[in-house]
Amino acid sequence: MSKIHVLPDALISQIAAGEVVDRPASVVKELIENSLDAGASRIAVEAEQGGMKLICVRDNGGGMDSQDAMLAFSRHATSKIASFEDLGNIGSFGFRGEALAAIAAVSSVEMRTREHDVQEGTEIVVSGGKFQSRRAAGCPPGTEIVARNLFFNTPARRKFLKSETTELGYIVSIVTCMALSNPSAAFDMKHNGKEIFSLPAASPQARAAALLGKRFFDEVMPVYFQTPSINIHGFIGQPGMARSQKKHQYLFINGRDVMDNLVSRAIADAYGSRLPARFFPVFVIHIDIDPHEVDVNVHPRKLTVKFLDTRRVYRDVSQAVSQALVDYEAGMSVLRSAPRPPLFAEKQPSVQEALVFSGRIAGGLGVRAEDFKYADAGQQTGTPVLLSPADAKILCQIANSYIAVLREEGIMFIDQHAAHERVLYERFSARAKEAKTESQQLLVPASVECTREEAVFLRQAMEHLSKLGFEFDEWSGGTFVIRACPKSLQKENLEKIFREFLDEMMSGQNEKDILPERILKSLACKAAVKFGMKMAVEEMQKLIDELAETSNNSTCPHGRPVRVTIGFEELERRFYRRG
Ligand code: ADP
Ligand code: MG
Repeated sequence: MSKIHVLPDALISQIAAGEVVDRPASVVKELIENSLDAGASRIAVEAEQGGMKLICVRDNGGGMDSQDAMLAFSRHATSKIASFEDLGNIGSFGFRGEALAAIAAVSSVEMRTREHDVQEGTEIVVSGGKFQSRRAAGCPPGTEIVARNLFFNTPARRKFLKSETTELGYIVSIVTCMALSNPSAAFDMKHNGKEIFSLPAASPQARAAALLGKRFFDEVMPVYFQTPSINIHGFIGQPGMARSQKKHQYLFINGRDVMDNLVSRAIADAYGSRLPARFFPVFVIHIDIDPHEVDVNVHPRKLTVKFLDTRRVYRDVSQAVSQALVDYEAGMSVLRSAPRPPLFAEKQPSVQEALVFSGRIAGGLGVRAEDFKYADAGQQTGTPVLLSPADAKILCQIANSYIAVLREEGIMFIDQHAAHERVLYERFSARAKEAKTESQQLLVPASVECTREEAVFLRQAMEHLSKLGFEFDEWSGGTFVIRACPKSLQKENLEKIFREFLDEMMSGQNEKDILPERILKSLACKAAVKFGMKMAVEEMQKLIDELAETSNNSTCPHGRPVRVTIGFEELERRFYRRG
């Protein structure tokens, strides 16, 4: 019997749809791109339940006549390219003619559209890829597309969606990108009926300030670089604004927001030693390049591009950024007579400080001070101490990051940060259940300026953070004022600590967790001894003892291993003493 059969059309469309539409945010992106391609100067985005229940994008662009409105839903129907040659010269966002068909294949779509010079518009309903109805409709000029119940007919995909907060986060970050690269269009965004932002048409700078916070705008350095074939412009953040996550990097190539490792590496390389290790510069960079020099048609969601001459792009970008840094620094030295302090002279906190700090945090969660006795342990290195069970010895600390322990079966390496993180996490979560937190009022409230995405997140996290002792006020424009914080936190450096805490809470790794869980993990991570910090033998011993008493002690709260053992058998095999 033959085994091969041709898939039914409906199934083919659903599979193809998965490549274009993987979550509510990608629907939003495709719809906004269509609105921009239609020349819209005002775009309103609404979402309900993280876009899973409803997504609506409304524009004042050119609209469609009733025939085009029908055609728009067929696969490979596009008004943007007509021939193979056109592929080499794409000036629009869309061109594959797949998005509307894909969205309609996996949700229930209503479209209302009207051209500007006609009296009447058209309403079309398509659900699960099946045409339902078309009728004449009264509607304003432009196009409104509503997509409900995404993936209602493909439960396998629906299952992969994350929480409402996470999906909303993705949508906000997409709309942020689109709004950054198209400042001359007004953008409004609402979620569950509440306004998230309302941005009037603005200059690129003003738009960046509105979305990323005024602080960003005040402290950035302008980039401007032009040759006949490339134009690189935008803003880069001062080295001191560098973040531990790459997410504050916005790159637009011919107006499209893309990820491109070559360009982000060129930018980071230009900063060179101005950046501390594992920190990433903040930037909003636009590269306009001859469409023949770049292929945007390499990814169904158009997230990546391919440059014809990668080496030249690398060189131009790093030159543009170096120039901006040098200009800025030259300007600064004219302004200041005193020598500038080195940008990253800030010393690594000592292990004592870290442990005292973690003790304070834990104190706020109801942990007894005795738990942190080893914060006072001396730095002197004594003779190696025995580890429980009594047959094990601490050999040494390696690269200020791992603890090597000799055991009966071989040598165990312990990742000091991961181990401490696990110990603190278990302790915090045990205490958090019963503890009533004490908070301290700040004499001078600390203000934290947030991007729109961070603000959305903070509002969701507010309830849990206040259980830990934080008190906030939200000012307009995404500024949060911290009036009180857990007693355990250092007041002096609160803004910085809080920023790092926020970055950590929002980082992708833990996104599957429910919010209070994420917060606990981030707190444990902020409080744990850092990778790269010297530890005294007593401190290592104490950590190992605690680890031995902690449950789940083989992985850190993020799921990375805490310890790796290389057995003697393995060594013997490596030395060919065993078969
Ligand atoms: P593509 O954008 O790749 O052409 P789409 O499936 O996204 O494919 O859209 C198909 C066509 O429908 C577009 O080429 C355009 O002509 C029309 N269209 C879609 N959205 C709009 C809109 N908001 N306003 C006007 N025309 C639109
Ligand atoms: Mg499109």
